[in-house]
Amino acid sequence: MAKRDYYEVLGLDKNANASEIKRAYRKLAMKFHPDKNNDDKAAEEKFKEASEAYEVLSDDNKKQRYDQFGHAGMEGAFGGSGFGWDNFTHASDFSDIFGSGGLGSIFEGLFGAGFGGGRSRRRSNQGEDLQISLSLTLEEIAKGISKKIKINVQDTCDTCNGSGSQDDSVETCSQCHGSGQVRQLTRSLFGQMQTIVECPSCRGEGKIIKNRCPKCRGDGRGKKAKTISIKIPAGVSEGQYIRLRSQGNIGKRGGEHGDILVHIQESEHKIFERQDADLICEFPISFSQAAMGTEIQVPTLTGKVKMKIPAGTQSSKVFRLRSQGLPHVNSSYHGDLFIKVHVITPTRLNSEEKDLFDKLSKFDSEKKLNPEKSFFSKLKKFFV
Ligand SMILES: [Zn+2]
Ligand SMILES: [Zn+2]
Repeated sequence: MAKRDYYEVLGLDKNANASEIKRAYRKLAMKFHPDKNNDDKAAEEKFKEASEAYEVLSDDNKKQRYDQFGHAGMEGAFGGSGFGWDNFTHASDFSDIFGSGGLGSIFEGLFGAGFGGGRSRRRSNQGEDLQISLSLTLEEIAKGISKKIKINVQDTCDTCNGSGSQDDSVETCSQCHGSGQVRQLTRSLFGQMQTIVECPSCRGEGKIIKNRCPKCRGDGRGKKAKTISIKIPAGVSEGQYIRLRSQGNIGKRGGEHGDILVHIQESEHKIFERQDADLICEFPISFSQAAMGTEIQVPTLTGKVKMKIPAGTQSSKVFRLRSQGLPHVNSSYHGDLFIKVHVITPTRLNSEEKDLFDKLSKFDSEKKLNPEKSFFSKLKKFFV
């Protein structure tokens, strides 16, 4: 069946403005809302179709694309399998239609779990995500690293195998008759409305455990130490995180696992300062090295490299060593290493050194002390 035009779905012409689009969707949503149509499949489809149209036409960007290219312009906009309820971002704008809090369960019930495109959507029986931070040295970041970490997670209770029951006997919830949902009358702008909310007796599970497992008290889960392996790609930086899917807490009574979020922290380095993928290192050289030029060995994250100091190098001069910095994540490109040299003025001189400096000082002249003429002339003006 050909996909209907979004404007046609909402009963609008192409020049409709934002408030007309919103009003049209509200009207259709009220009409086809599953709450009012007793599981009528055709109404559900209409509701979903209108919601998709609204999702596109209420978003300037998507609307522009759609106006220009039609449905072809929306290809892939909602992931491979097309529009699903997890693509709908306006539920909270219409909470009087959808009922507060009941949205998730309505949509889950209608269209089943696991719908929609790429991003994982939290399910009601999914366990909590866990967050850990991982401190890495620059050396570890340079190479990428695999780490094993011990962490306590909620996992299936061994005593009841996750059922939460001592004897596997469960009763159907008498308040919701097993559906996990109850209808509730609420007042809204449009008068009294029926909304569906999670059943308070069974918390949406539809069943009640008679004899709870003594170990987990009916949760069906308990804390366990677990060792997880984390592979960190080279080039990560502070503030980034890695998501380990389905490694977090298990949901209650046979639910699904949440995720673990590993936050990357960078420990301070003794020698290097990081700027994105570049590294900066301050390096001391002597008077004579600076004056005569030399070759020095400078540190990198993986060892040492030779670097030439040309004769007449001034203090604070910065040298760039290409590609000796950090790699970029998922790329073969490396940053650079910047060596900032500092000419060190000697402090404790022995008598021989004093003699030599004394002899050298006879050669001091305005010209020699003046590597940058403009600076020196400014200085002279200052003293005049
Ligand atoms: Zn148990
Ligand atoms: Zn119930």
